[in-house]
Amino acid sequence: MSRRFAAIITTGEHGSRSKQADTSRQETERMTQLNEPAATDALSIRNLHVSVEGKPILRGVDLTIRRGETHALMGPNGSGKSTLGLAIMGHPKYTVTEGQILLDGTNILDWSPDDRARHGLFYAFQRPVAIPGVKMADFLRHATTNVRQPERGEGEPLIPMREFRKELKERMEDLHIDVEFARRYVNDGFSGGEMKRAEILQLAMLQPRFAILDETDSGLDADAVRLASEAIARIGRDKMGLLIITHHDKLLEHNPPEYTHVMLGGRIVETGGPELAEELYRHGYERIRAAYPDADQANQSMEQKESRLTV
Ligand code: ADP
Ligand code: MG
Repeated sequence: MSRRFAAIITTGEHGSRSKQADTSRQETERMTQLNEPAATDALSIRNLHVSVEGKPILRGVDLTIRRGETHALMGPNGSGKSTLGLAIMGHPKYTVTEGQILLDGTNILDWSPDDRARHGLFYAFQRPVAIPGVKMADFLRHATTNVRQPERGEGEPLIPMREFRKELKERMEDLHIDVEFARRYVNDGFSGGEMKRAEILQLAMLQPRFAILDETDSGLDADAVRLASEAIARIGRDKMGLLIITHHDKLLEHNPPEYTHVMLGGRIVETGGPELAEELYRHGYERIRAAYPDADQANQSMEQKESRLTV
């Protein structure tokens, strides 16, 4: 087990996109090359359409995150926030049917999740997966080596143990995580709060260029959310492009977003500054739902499908 996402995302095959999607991708790729210079130090999502098991979920998402920027992504349940994060990472279940994902101007749709991680993308799972038999420390040592040495092949040397241990210990102390934690199997029997702290620890060790934090606050008590919020700020907001998916203001306390995006029915319907996040915490999504009835309708029908799925 040497690769973070290869380990976590083991099902499904790549390259299952339809011919039609390939054609439209080529089309948009050509247009991008013609119209715009490659954006460096940016993650750009262009007209992204994503289906899950044949059901359209995202219906044309546009979003550009430059390094050093913090973006908040909000929206009611089932609006497609996690789908966007997982599609950016290349989860095989989330099929891109149209549009592009550009990293520094390069279309990465054909890259494996592993390659995306090695090139500086990171996704902290809303619902992390357990990997029994793989200790946190071993997992982190492999993953950290791979992102620092993107060309490293299987079986090639890892970061020296002493160096790694020292760094891991420091990061764990920062996050108030017991060092014993590193000997446990990844997410195996972790409480909700422990899982979220493990995701932040990965973020601190991997130091990605672009990070998507998917409801990292859920399952944490107020003190733990504050610690997580401080830790994210310390890891270096200025070095990362951050997309923080959250329902709570506490996670943004130390990370005020330059931009707030609201997703409804698989589209970003509104973008504003920090005041938009503030409005949504205080007053909920009623105004947004009323202002975008088509997106609201789409959201409701997705929610119904979701409740059928869980029954
Ligand atoms: P959010 O994170 O905003 O709550 P999601 O992206 O998790 O929303 O879900 C958006 C829609 O996509 C929902 O209707 C959900 O049921 C569907 N969906 C997401 N992931 C899957 C999946 N793995 N299998 C089936 N449906 C899914
Ligand atoms: Mg979600």
